[in-house]
Amino acid sequence: MNETVKRAVEIIKSSNTRDLRIMEVCGTHTHEIFRMGIRKLLPENIKLISGPGCPVCVTPVDYIDEAVMLALEKNAVICTFGDLVRVPGTSMSLALARGKGAKVVTVYSPLDATKYAEEHPSEEVVFLSVGFETTAPSDCISVKTAVRKNLKNYSVLTSNKTMPGAYRAMKDSADAFLYPGHVHAITGTGILKELLSEGVSGVVTGFTAAEITTALATVLKKTETGKPFFENCYPRVVRDEGNVAAMKIIDEFMEPCDAVWRGIGEIKNSGLKLRSKYADYDARIKFSLPVINGKPNPACRCGQVLQGKILPSDCPLFGRACTPEHPVGACMVSGEGACSAFYLYGGNK
Ligand code: SF4
Repeated sequence: MNETVKRAVEIIKSSNTRDLRIMEVCGTHTHEIFRMGIRKLLPENIKLISGPGCPVCVTPVDYIDEAVMLALEKNAVICTFGDLVRVPGTSMSLALARGKGAKVVTVYSPLDATKYAEEHPSEEVVFLSVGFETTAPSDCISVKTAVRKNLKNYSVLTSNKTMPGAYRAMKDSADAFLYPGHVHAITGTGILKELLSEGVSGVVTGFTAAEITTALATVLKKTETGKPFFENCYPRVVRDEGNVAAMKIIDEFMEPCDAVWRGIGEIKNSGLKLRSKYADYDARIKFSLPVINGKPNPACRCGQVLQGKILPSDCPLFGRACTPEHPVGACMVSGEGACSAFYLYGGNK
């Protein structure tokens, strides 16, 4: 253990700060905190709660239903990251749709999807564009590539989200946020300073044990001042101005829209959709998709988990009817989901 980590661990273990709820917004943080045993360091009165920062978890049921409709009724080939395949829709997941003849191709980047479209000109290819500011640039580059190569058989089904709206929606759920470093490497820190001026506290952190423990120690020390705070604990990657080129390409191809977050509902201006100039690449327009009102499993409590209102282990289905092998909700499917983290690491704190 290096000196920085040792010092951070000492601060955490010896803290006698007030009761505190710290939200680790990002699903990767949730898993890393469990994996490295960091929860066990915390005094009893300091609770870590999971937030809505797992892209698959917050993707609404309607979206899965739209993808299933595209695959089964519109004869489109769905290209997607693996996690989304097993997320339950109203009546089925894409994995089940496969059993009914749907063609679902797992890809590792949006450019794999454009490549697939180029190599299969007789097939209509739809890429499932989900994720936060971290993945939106590559989604946009895929559209840019399709435009450049004049691919008429490629489109994207967008359910992209942006974090600022979620922070504001969640600000009363926690005393401080652990902000996701990879998101703010793209957006910069302007929004976080704005939130500070509204009394919202948090620190940006990276993903190593040293970075997370240092960030938690910073939260505890800053809380003792009794004032709202913001600290960039990931300066080697996160700059105030963010990644200007990445933000530029997002702005060129996408515009803000209201977005529905699974279990949470609509958050104003918390999504991204393709600009009308690129309507030919928007799967909803291209395939005239109707508005679908999906119905999530009423027993699943992902919405409360994603807002830090309950722990996954408080859900009556956790570990019984709902396991990673047989997930009932998205939070158990995703490698970044809080329910899967609790299941995998036996979390109960
Ligand atoms: S344990 Fe399963 S059913 Fe319960 S909230 Fe998590 S994903 Fe939903």
